[in-house]
Amino acid sequence: MTYNKASRKAEEFISHEEILATLAFAEANKDNKAMIEAILDRAIDGKGLDHREAMLLLECEDEALQQRMFSIAKEIKQRLYGNRIVMFAPLYLSNYCVNGCTYCPYHAKNKTIPRRKLTQDEIRKEVIALQDMGHKRLALEMGEHPKLNDMDYLLESIKTIYDIKHKNGAIRRVNVNIAATSVENYRKLHEAGIGTYLLFQETYHRPTYEALHPTGPKSDYIYHTEAMDRAMEGGIDDVGIGVLFGLNTYKYDFTGLLMHAEHLEAVFGVGPHTISVPRICPADDIDTADFPNSISDDIFRRIVAIIRIAVPYTGMIISTRESQQSRERVLEVGVSQLSGGSRTTVGGYAVDTAPETDETAQFDLSDTRTLDEIAEWLIDLGYVPSFCTACYREGRTGDRFMALIKSGQIANCCGPNALITLKEYLEDYASANTKKKGEKLILSGLKMIPNEKIRAKAEKNLGEIEEGKRD
Ligand code: SAM
Ligand code: SF4
Repeated sequence: MTYNKASRKAEEFISHEEILATLAFAEANKDNKAMIEAILDRAIDGKGLDHREAMLLLECEDEALQQRMFSIAKEIKQRLYGNRIVMFAPLYLSNYCVNGCTYCPYHAKNKTIPRRKLTQDEIRKEVIALQDMGHKRLALEMGEHPKLNDMDYLLESIKTIYDIKHKNGAIRRVNVNIAATSVENYRKLHEAGIGTYLLFQETYHRPTYEALHPTGPKSDYIYHTEAMDRAMEGGIDDVGIGVLFGLNTYKYDFTGLLMHAEHLEAVFGVGPHTISVPRICPADDIDTADFPNSISDDIFRRIVAIIRIAVPYTGMIISTRESQQSRERVLEVGVSQLSGGSRTTVGGYAVDTAPETDETAQFDLSDTRTLDEIAEWLIDLGYVPSFCTACYREGRTGDRFMALIKSGQIANCCGPNALITLKEYLEDYASANTKKKGEKLILSGLKMIPNEKIRAKAEKNLGEIEEGKRD
């Protein structure tokens, strides 16, 4: 092997040579059914696969073996995550940006998009609008601008959000998606109590990365690729990685993504908390026709299923970039977190414009349904929309969270918590229709809690919520 798993530096580990060797290995063995079957036999245990094995599964064209991969992915997802889907919303703080990312309408040279940065008062209004929908978990998003949206602005905004006490509780977890920064800044974010630090690699192919990021601090491939190493060093132990599918060939980036997860696990003892799987979308001055590597819905579903098999303990996120139909197909085989009722505009929640007419959005939304519509749809499909943030509040992040999920105790812990938070949502925010369907789902969900004492406690909590008690 030409790579060193325990290398302190992600960029050294996720080497071009090893990615090419992996692609060659998968191409050479893609018709080797016995080898693929042996990998799948092991995969059922839910112990994960390495990047070479995962890439071989992705290369396999045999229909029956692909169906087997989907059923193993479904089985692992059901076993480790149950039927709960964690809900969140993005909150765009500022679209000022000094970078030149050629796929993003917020790039510095775009003069057609109105620029805006929320004041603390506007943030309060946005957050209250989000809370009025029922959200408890946010992902903050902003461009990179050393003067207009610096670290002090972000820290002040996080404090503002955590301090808001509105009707039925508060935002309980603030995740942050901002450009790569220093260990010192990551330490400050950790001290500010963020949940997950999210940063997408965009692509692991260095020449493509450099071509797509011609200007600005984000053009430094090594600094960007090693961001999660610095975040971990700064004390953040829940990190979320991802690539923007469509920028480069999916096989290359799929391999890079899994190697990144392996690197974090090998060096820090804890893999990524989440993996995001965004696909490039049209937006203001961005035309997806300029990105010939866009992937089909079928390949997308296979990628999600194989990630589920390869890194079973990592949550998987999709956003409203995906349509209802596409979301439905990937929820089944692996996705565990979903955004809902989203606006990708700075200041999009407190105003009353339809998302379809939003000219300042970061990208065009495919799923424009309200949170209530999404909750009802999930319930109809048998999923429990979860607003739970208990792990985070009890300090169960990083390796402590991984230990919980690896212990297989999710059904006794996250399952009941999801039901309780769904009950709160139904009481406080849901439409009559969603409420009726949700109550029915809670009753059947209760029966699935294996431990009798935990089931009794959940029943008691649900009764208390009905009487007006809130967490
Ligand atoms: N500015 C930070 C950064 O670049 O990492 C974080 C915020 S940025 C708005 C979040 C992500 O949006 C980027 O990492 C990129 O993958 C994604 N993005 C940008 N343009 C997109 C597009 N046209 N379609 C889909 N996703 C896009
Ligand atoms: Fe700026 Fe992020 Fe968009 Fe790049 S992806 S232009 S850094 S907001």
